[in-house]
Formats: sequence, structure tokens, C-alpha cells
Amino acid sequence: MKFELTELGKQFSDSELIGDLKRVASLINKSLVTLREYQQYGNYSYQTQKKRFSSWKKALEAANLDKSKRPWGGDLSETGIPEKQLIKDMQKVAKKLDKKTITTAEYEMHGKFGISTISKRFGGWNKAKMSAGLKIGRLYNSSEEDYFENILCVWQTLGRQPKYREMEAPLSRLHISSYERKFGTWRSALESFIDYVSTRSDEVQPKSDVEKESTRDTVISAAPKKKKPRKRTNRIANLRQRFRVMKRDGFKCLLCGASPAKNPNCELHIDHIVPWSHGGETIEENLRTLCSNCNLGRSNKE
Ligand SMILES: [Zn+2]
Repeated sequence: MKFELTELGKQFSDSELIGDLKRVASLINKSLVTLREYQQYGNYSYQTQKKRFSSWKKALEAANLDKSKRPWGGDLSETGIPEKQLIKDMQKVAKKLDKKTITTAEYEMHGKFGISTISKRFGGWNKAKMSAGLKIGRLYNSSEEDYFENILCVWQTLGRQPKYREMEAPLSRLHISSYERKFGTWRSALESFIDYVSTRSDEVQPKSDVEKESTRDTVISAAPKKKKPRKRTNRIANLRQRFRVMKRDGFKCLLCGASPAKNPNCELHIDHIVPWSHGGETIEENLRTLCSNCNLGRSNKE
């Protein structure tokens, strides 16, 4: 299953965006503005700029800025750069951040080259990370998971991707400004969220369980167990599973069709089709979305 972000609503006019690019160019007294410079001085996110004008180059063009020179902080023609150099730069960013893996947002912020340049060259961001000897994501810390949990909660209530302006009370427990502090922009937060939920968490089981656990931030028991009984999945579906199952089921109850988007009193639960107590595992195939009414009615009968 692949998830894609939907377009964020137009919030700023083209001329506002162009005006801001020009302002930054004159501020730094240059005839061109790199992504990083814009990130530093711009009033909008460079992703907004890129999205509106379809590329950074086009945005510069629209602002009558020089788009021909290199090197860039962005995604101009970087096709000639050797892979070694791309890898080196990724490793440099990881080292600088003291992390075993880096997100695209982090690389965009600190790296020299364009994400698209790197992704194209290696056939994807994850493959690039593999080539650079970096961990393939999934090393989110607990506070990031808390941010994601809240996104899931709002997403579930709306039945769709939350918009910038919706990330405030009472709908959202965390305010949009917290996301901007943490992820740079709302777009990056959403991208990190999608990155996070895009891998099945039950795919990597069961052989690498121990290994998997040890890569987590909190290692609960350091001592290895001697004899391992058949390992069962967790009874409670995790964040990834809940999002993936609800998204698959359209954020509505599979029995009665109720959804929080249509009925504010509706609460969605994740139900085991074969109950966990009867040996049903917590894997996507055995999970489905039910409203609390249908779910409680069902478990009472068992
Ligand atoms: Zn129902």
C-alpha cells in the first residue's frame, strides 16, 4: 500500500510568493537564492514555493532571478555529480545531526543537493540511504510518535488528510506551531508521518524481532530470553497498523458505515476479525475498522 499526500490548499497568492523570493534575494544581495537560503530567510516554506511553481527553478524564473548558475542548494541540473559525492554529503548530514538515519526534510535543510537528484540517482530515498550506509528510517523517537499519534487522531476525525489551519484545538491536541518547530513545516510533518506509516510494521517479523526491538529507543529488557516460546504479535495494534487499516477501510465502520466525519459521536476502533484471545494475530489482514457501537456489541456476544 502506498500513501500519497493530497494537495495542501492554496494559502498564498503567486505574487506574495514571488515577492518574498525577491525580498530574500535583495536581503542577501544575490541574484539567486538557494533552497537553504530561502529556508533561512523566507517567509514561506520553500516547499510551498516549489509546489506552486512546480520546481525551484521555475519559482526563481517567476521572480526573475538567476537560475542558471551552479552550484545549488537545490535541484537544478545536478546530474553530473558523482554518486560518491552525493553519498558523502548524506553521511555528512547524518554525522552533523548525530543520527543513524536522516529524513528527506532533514536532508533538505542541511544537505547540499536536491532530494530528487539523489532519489533519482539511486532509485529512491531509501535506496540512497542504503548506499550511504544509513539506517532505513523507522528510528523515530517517542516524541515524534506522539506528534504522529495526534496527526492520526485528527486524520481519523476528519476522514482525510488534515489541513494546516485545522491543526488547533479542539480538533488537534498539538498546535500547528509545535509541528513547525519540530518538523520545519506542516508539509514536512505530513511527509514524515507518511514516511512513518508507509512501511508495514508486521512485515519484518517474526525472525528479526530481537533485532527490531533493539533498534528502538526504549529497550525494555536488555537480557536476552533463553528459550523463546512462539512469539505472538502484540494484542494492541500500533500506530502504523491503525492508520493503515483505517485508511484501507475509508475511516468508517465496516459494519454500519458510521464515521466521525459524518457523526461527531462516532468513535472508531480497530477490531480483530479472529479475536486475539482465539489466536488471531494483530496483522493488517486480521484487523478491520469498526465503530465503538458495533465493536462493543460484537465483543459482548463472544
Ligand atoms: Zn458500526
